[in-house]
Amino acid sequence: MHPLDFVAEELAGLRNQGLCRPLRVLSGPQGARAVIDGRPVINLSSNNYLGLANHPSLVEAAVAATQRLGAGSGAVRTIIGTMELHLELERRLAAFKRAEAVLVFQSGFTTNAGVIPVLVGEGDAIISDELNHASIIDGCRLSRAQVLRFAHRDVADLERVLREAQGFRRRLVITDGVFSMDGDIAPLPGVVPLAQRYGAMTYVDDAHGSGVLGENGRGTVNHFHLEGLVDVQIGTLSKALGALGGYVAGSRDLIDLLIHRGRPFLFSTSHPPGVTAAAIAAVDVLEREPELVDRLWENARYFKAGLKRLGFDTGGSETPITPVIIGEGSLAMRFSDRLFAAGVFAQGVSYPTVPADRSRVRTIVTAEHSRDDLDQALEVFGRVGREMGVCR
Ligand SMILES: *Cc1c(COP(=O)(O)O)cnc(C)c1O
Repeated sequence: MHPLDFVAEELAGLRNQGLCRPLRVLSGPQGARAVIDGRPVINLSSNNYLGLANHPSLVEAAVAATQRLGAGSGAVRTIIGTMELHLELERRLAAFKRAEAVLVFQSGFTTNAGVIPVLVGEGDAIISDELNHASIIDGCRLSRAQVLRFAHRDVADLERVLREAQGFRRRLVITDGVFSMDGDIAPLPGVVPLAQRYGAMTYVDDAHGSGVLGENGRGTVNHFHLEGLVDVQIGTLSKALGALGGYVAGSRDLIDLLIHRGRPFLFSTSHPPGVTAAAIAAVDVLEREPELVDRLWENARYFKAGLKRLGFDTGGSETPITPVIIGEGSLAMRFSDRLFAAGVFAQGVSYPTVPADRSRVRTIVTAEHSRDDLDQALEVFGRVGREMGVCR
């Protein structure tokens, strides 16, 4: 017996369940067409919604900042890792989100891990949509507050939980803006006034809404005209914004408190200049080229309509994330593999990420896909789907 024997055992367990999959490798840029594992494919699995990861403005900004300021930042923000560029990005994001202030973290994941434990702790309650993202779940655990789940997007069930939670010291209602596996949108016009009525704080993690929903991609809260009414908004710089990072937008006081209490902010090195400059350039592009967001939505509508016409079950998707729900897990994985062999990459997703009987391939179209890319992808979905008996 070796103390690390459990590692091989756990791996064998994953292999037996068919859940041990090698990492797919990209040789070349993250684009609408990409070379994945050596095969040129139409890429339907990237979060690079607007193509900003390869936008010349971002690339040039990153190169110029790297040459001027270096490859790394050398310290945490609270010691000497705060550069003028970091503050410039936070000012730009605050103006863009129409919030009093913004604080940037290393990623969307660390933003949730850092912010939630500052808002609630022992003796408090977190009221959480059952399909919230893993980083929210981990942030909730770190906080030691009690987590009470409400049924997905169900405002009546939210009220039931809010009523139950009245005895707790502080209450925090927390939801994804756009849900990453289903592409549906949180019913904020119902959630926000209800939380207010019960004296609970509101927290929207808008990772998949950033750069996608609302005016110039300002997000889900803007989309529903609720600016100023949501206490805490989280965004990511890693998806539609094409760079890396997460941020929290809220009141000046909240941001000042997070500077002193947000643990990833305090104890992990700040972004390199290149990343920060690219994110600033991304905000410029969103302000200057809203037609990118329009093109994203045109493509999303076109592709979704095509999938429906082929007889696929696309669930309740309302955004460029469109699941193609297959059912049983190994069937969904085989469907994804067959699509890949035919030149289309769409990631298979099964239990425990989604319910076992709702396994799927998840598609994300971007502003960069041409009509030709989408037509070709639809042709492949139809052909492979009919061959495997998973569509009409
Ligand atoms: C992707 C995602 C994150 C993580 O963002 P990163 O910047 O990639 O760390 C957080 N929350 C939600 C809802 C997400 O979809």
